[in-house]
Amino acid sequence: MGELSLSQIRDNARRVLERAAIAAERAGHEVTVVAASKMNDTWAVRAAYDAGIRFFGENRVQELEGKLSENAYAGASLHFIGRLQKNKVKNVVGRVDLIESADSAELLRLIGKKAVELGTSQDVLLEVNIGREEAKSGVAPEGLPGLVEEAAQIDGIFVRGLMAIPPVETKKEKTERYFEQMRKLFIDMSAKKYDNVTMSILSMGMSADFELAIACGANMVRVGSAIFGERHYDR
Ligand SMILES: *Cc1c(COP(=O)(O)O)cnc(C)c1O
Repeated sequence: MGELSLSQIRDNARRVLERAAIAAERAGHEVTVVAASKMNDTWAVRAAYDAGIRFFGENRVQELEGKLSENAYAGASLHFIGRLQKNKVKNVVGRVDLIESADSAELLRLIGKKAVELGTSQDVLLEVNIGREEAKSGVAPEGLPGLVEEAAQIDGIFVRGLMAIPPVETKKEKTERYFEQMRKLFIDMSAKKYDNVTMSILSMGMSADFELAIACGANMVRVGSAIFGERHYDR
């Protein structure tokens, strides 16, 4: 990327942490800021770390592996937040603290199988396609109860909560409605009691709307461009 300097990234990260903390205090709950560091190099990740960021999220397995080999995330937690292909499951399980984007029983079974092989358990969030968008991943809202029930039968995984990327809307009210729907699903799912399912994390909200998401109950937000600057996909 190379648009922002190290000190600009640090300043941005501090500001985002501060804004999130204020929003969380207002909402009366805690929040975890995950810096979405896709397309940013190790030095940028370390700049955010220096400013107090302790959670990073990556979308692409290859990029994650590259930065892992450079110790980019030392001292921090690492999340996988992108679309996870079945043939890449083995590269991610056991290497990340949380897979935020699990959205099918088949994927959960593959994740669990690999975790069991490694003698571990993998924490996951279930991604919900709250806007029912064709092009987006995530389980449809009406499919969520069934997926939770299936997840409860799978060894090697621990479901920690829900994640969503609502449709891009220009009106705040529309975005808010999606966040509220997610909060309701989160509360509904919390009522279910399974050994390996605990609804403690609600991950929603990005650079444009993370304060609104926190007000609507998000206790995890994923923030990229507000920290690292705009991404340029043509480079
Ligand atoms: C890139 C990304 C984000 C952050 O997006 P920004 O709008 O840059 O804050 C959040 N979540 C996921 C899954 C992402 O891929």
